[in-house]
Amino acid sequence: VFIAGLSLSTENDEMTDVSEIRGDANYVEVLDRGFVGLVNVMGNDEMIERAARVSYGAGTRAVNDRRNLLRYLMRHYHTSPFEFGEVAFHVKMPILVARQLFRHRMQSINEQSARYSVLTDEFYYPTEDRIQAQSKTNKQGSEGDVPQDVKEKFLNDLASVDELTRTVYEDALGNGISRELARMVLPVAQYTECYIKVDMNNFLKMLRLRTDSHAQQEIQEYANAMEKLVEPHFPLTIEAYRDYHKNARSVSRMEKEMMLNLLAHVPESTLRSICFDSFGMGKREFREFIRDFFPDKYDTVFPENH
Ligand SMILES: Cc1cc2nc3c(=O)[nH]c(=O)nc-3n(C[C@H](O)[C@H](O)[C@H](O)COP(=O)(O)OP(=O)(O)OC[C@H]3O[C@@H](n4cnc5c(N)ncnc54)[C@H](O)[C@@H]3O)c2cc1C
Repeated sequence: VFIAGLSLSTENDEMTDVSEIRGDANYVEVLDRGFVGLVNVMGNDEMIERAARVSYGAGTRAVNDRRNLLRYLMRHYHTSPFEFGEVAFHVKMPILVARQLFRHRMQSINEQSARYSVLTDEFYYPTEDRIQAQSKTNKQGSEGDVPQDVKEKFLNDLASVDELTRTVYEDALGNGISRELARMVLPVAQYTECYIKVDMNNFLKMLRLRTDSHAQQEIQEYANAMEKLVEPHFPLTIEAYRDYHKNARSVSRMEKEMMLNLLAHVPESTLRSICFDSFGMGKREFREFIRDFFPDKYDTVFPENH
């Protein structure tokens, strides 16, 4: 379903201005001049379920509703059914964000050509709040405040770079230098625009990495906007992704052994009481939990196995 998108003009090859997408519910504004739009969607939760049932067939009776089936697939990394959902985005972002987003190879991308078009003067300026110090604990991160005068100097310096690089770019173009060469002076704060199409399996892999607090804040904002736009089209898939991947983590062999040691001392009465409140887990999932973390007590909790 083609759900959004600007009318295509052959006369105007300039970048899309953020004012053109304002008010369109399929678009979210990001940073000072950027945006993400969900322009096309293929499939939905039902399509993913249908694809899965081909391989599971009658055997899926144990997981007999859509939500449970999608949660089972997500939990056990049965990823290929999720490839039957696809989403396409229209994104305008600084080149520094595009470089990170484009690292996700399992997606199709088409970017505005700076060989073909003259890039408009659109430069990313972080907000004062965003101008932070180098993190001491994370070599790739920012953390803590810097003095106000340092923030102001940085913003003024950015403006000088913007002005200088723009002047060199436009002078070069004015002197007849080709666009593909003139662009070499443009910095990574320059905005670029592209279309991206990706299947839901790889989209969720990207989301997990780029909505994480370790990702750069700017790309987190784009990834969060994408998640918000896609959720209404794949609500069960997104819910399962949040429960089993986004807000979860795998446990190492050592961690598991340590937990087994600790859990071995959980009194029988506590274990019985959590049977009645398994924190929103499905029956099958709860069985897996007891099997993996209380192996000695599995038969007590599920006596019907005898
Ligand atoms: C916080 C953070 C910091 C990072 N820092 C750096 C950095 O300093 N330097 C840097 O270079 N990168 C960095 N990256 C990028 C990172 O290493 C990955 O390249 C990026 O996240 C894409 O992940 P991916 O390969 O899983 O995704 P995709 O390329 O979308 O691939 C999805 C999946 O497809 C499979 N796949 C795709 N291509 C291949 C292939 N050629 N061979 C085998 N399997 C394939 C893999 O299973 C992969 O997980 C960083 C990423 C994050 C999130």
